[in-house]
Amino acid sequence: MKRGLVLRRIAAIPLTVLAVGATLSAAQAADNKKQFKYQDKPGPNGAKCVGCRFFKKPNACTIVHGKISPNGWCIAWAK
Ligand code: SF4
Repeated sequence: MKRGLVLRRIAAIPLTVLAVGATLSAAQAADNKKQFKYQDKPGPNGAKCVGCRFFKKPNACTIVHGKISPNGWCIAWAK
């Protein structure tokens, strides 16, 4: 391998690491159900998404991304 090519590849490594990191962050942001320990069943004391201030009819949430169940629950639950 030529010296110039080796140097260019070494210089590209930080950009590759940044790109992978950005992709992971986007993926994590797209699905944060694990982060908030979301579950499809009621939480402590029967708390449900339908009774949470962050619930959006019919099956969405302002905090947890994606489709959720009105009967679900997560650690961000708030009356
Ligand atoms: S914050 Fe949690 S408990 Fe409240 S609606 Fe969203 S997922 Fe359900």
